[in-house]
This record gives sequence, structure tokens and C-alpha cells, in this order.
Amino acid sequence: MEFDLSDINAEMISARLTDERISWSKRNRLIKKALSKVFGYKNVRVKQEYSWVHIIIMANRPHKGKCRSQPFDYTYCRECSTTKDSIVSMVWHVLKETGLYSELTFYYTDMGEKREECHIDVRFIDEAV
Ligand SMILES: [Zn+2]
Repeated sequence: MEFDLSDINAEMISARLTDERISWSKRNRLIKKALSKVFGYKNVRVKQEYSWVHIIIMANRPHKGKCRSQPFDYTYCRECSTTKDSIVSMVWHVLKETGLYSELTFYYTDMGEKREECHIDVRFIDEAV
């Protein structure tokens, strides 16, 4: 899958030329725009929660009905888990391809590891929001 993200790249370049630091609202608008090309406008939500950006992607479940042979409602079958994981990977890919990744804020864990202040949540359309 390849998507034309060149206009996002262009907007990022112009924003960096005009602003010392791209505002969170401008960054989030670009995140929404970039991810909408991949997942569809109505399937992408981008919210700011304190310093964190919260990205919600609505996706179709890869099969009909509920997951089979799962003891609890909140767990997913392998097919659904794989679908969710691949969507999360795609979101990171788009953020990195567009340069939006470097506009995220970061924190350090107790172990000194750098982490993104970005939460990606994939929800199936048949799930209550
Ligand atoms: Zn499933």
C-alpha cells in the first residue's frame, strides 16, 4: 500500500519555514489529513489530551460476527489482533513518512527509554465507541 502524502510533506515544510514550532493543533490537523488518505476521513479521530495526542482509527473487523473461541468479550482472535497491529504499524509509518513523528512530544520511562506521547487506538466499527 502506498499513498500520496506529498501534499502533507509540502505543508510540513512550509509550516517549519513559517513557525518556529508547529502548534499541536496544526500538527493534529495534519495527522488527521494524512491518516484520512489511508483510512478514510470519517474513520480517523485525533484528540489532544494534555501533552498527549490520541489517535483513534475505526476499521472493519476482518470477519463477520464476534471473535470465536475467545473466553471474554474484550479479547480478540488472532486475525483481529493481526489486523489491529497492522493498522497501528501503518499509523506509525505514515507519521514517520510525513515527518509528523518528529512533531510529537516525548517522555522518558524510569528505564530512560524515550517514548512517544501518542496513543493509537484501533476500534472495530461494530464495537461501541
Ligand atoms: Zn476476531
